[in-house]
Amino acid sequence: MGRENSLQQNSSEKQTSDRYRRLTPTAWVGSVPVGSGHPIVVQSMTNTDTADAEGTAKQIAELAAAGSEIVRITVNNKASAQAVPEVDARLQDMGVSVPIVGDFHYNGHLLLKEFPKTAEILAKYRINPGNVGAGKHHDANFKTMIDVAIEYDKPVRIGVNWGSLDQQLLTKLMDENATLEKPADASDVLIEAMLQSALLSADAAESFGLGHDKIIISAKVSRARDLWKVYRLLAERCDYPLHLGLTEAGMGVKGIASSSAALAPILADGIGDTIRVSLTPEPGANRAKEVDVAQEILQSLDLRSFAPSVTACPGCGRTTSTLFQEMARDIQAYLKAQMPVWGKQYEGVEDLKVAVMGCVVNGPGESKHADIGISLPGNGEDPKAPVYQDGKLVTTLQGPNIVPDFNLMLDNYVATRYGMSDSVLS
Ligand code: SF4
Repeated sequence: MGRENSLQQNSSEKQTSDRYRRLTPTAWVGSVPVGSGHPIVVQSMTNTDTADAEGTAKQIAELAAAGSEIVRITVNNKASAQAVPEVDARLQDMGVSVPIVGDFHYNGHLLLKEFPKTAEILAKYRINPGNVGAGKHHDANFKTMIDVAIEYDKPVRIGVNWGSLDQQLLTKLMDENATLEKPADASDVLIEAMLQSALLSADAAESFGLGHDKIIISAKVSRARDLWKVYRLLAERCDYPLHLGLTEAGMGVKGIASSSAALAPILADGIGDTIRVSLTPEPGANRAKEVDVAQEILQSLDLRSFAPSVTACPGCGRTTSTLFQEMARDIQAYLKAQMPVWGKQYEGVEDLKVAVMGCVVNGPGESKHADIGISLPGNGEDPKAPVYQDGKLVTTLQGPNIVPDFNLMLDNYVATRYGMSDSVLS
């Protein structure tokens, strides 16, 4: 335990002051390092039938394009296990190299043995110790999967979920608790069972010969406060890299808000080496939203930067039209759209901060805090829009071309600050 690894700190990764700064081993998931101070990895999961190799490869490519650095797929039957090589081949044809993780429940020991090419292609195996069989089969099935991981030199995620907790272990702990003079609350026993399930499984995996640096742990619950408790205890009790996520977060605003509320305090504590936001998409909606939300959570906490950010006020009775809202929306979209090019051309541009404010009440102040910011004229104000760069008033725009004029200033600012100014100005 406590092995030190060389750090390959990404330039976009930020330091955080935290109570739980942890030195973990680095678990390599394909080419992606997880843990040991590496940037917190964003991952996601497909919702296609993996047996549909074309549809699965397409969705993996979409998730990777959105910024998912690892993508997990369901491997739940022979057809899906058989499809993995074709998924991989299709991704290679598309030039997509994101590591693919296999999610196994109940029959992983059988599938990994029967489909060796799949076992070789997958970059990591997710094993749920609550779903590897009961009684004497539990240990044997678990060992089979660990043996395959050792054979192919793969890391595993021991992923406990309170919806599928090892019932034998839970019953044992509940019985022991019942004999105590002052029994603990049942929810605390449940959390203890989750921790023990994860950590005893990790011990078992190591005793079978899996390297300490081949193990990532998760213990997911669906309530924020329980998640904080589980992960703070995990962080105290082990040095494995931790996969963080609120399970069954839900749909839409509810899912985004509860995931943010659950993950933020833990991440701010310095806990979490890779995250997934488990959103339920609207029917037919883009799966990649969970990647966007994960990135926004990390960027809001100054843990990573993925794209320039736009600070915008909510607007109020002082905003005279929708111009300000449209401008904030368009600039945000513009900045994101530029990133595939800017990211290669302008080192550090993902840290750019832009302010688009509705009037001069808070506009100049917020603009001064941004790298470049504009305050549009509010209700009853002079039709002028002061623009600040690096905290200083540089010009005041007015007339019908305020928006394109500001966009031009933005381009020039990016080119001047992050690259060769004449590459954009010419
Ligand atoms: S900056 Fe101006 S427009 Fe925006 S919310 Fe504040 S007072 Fe309203």
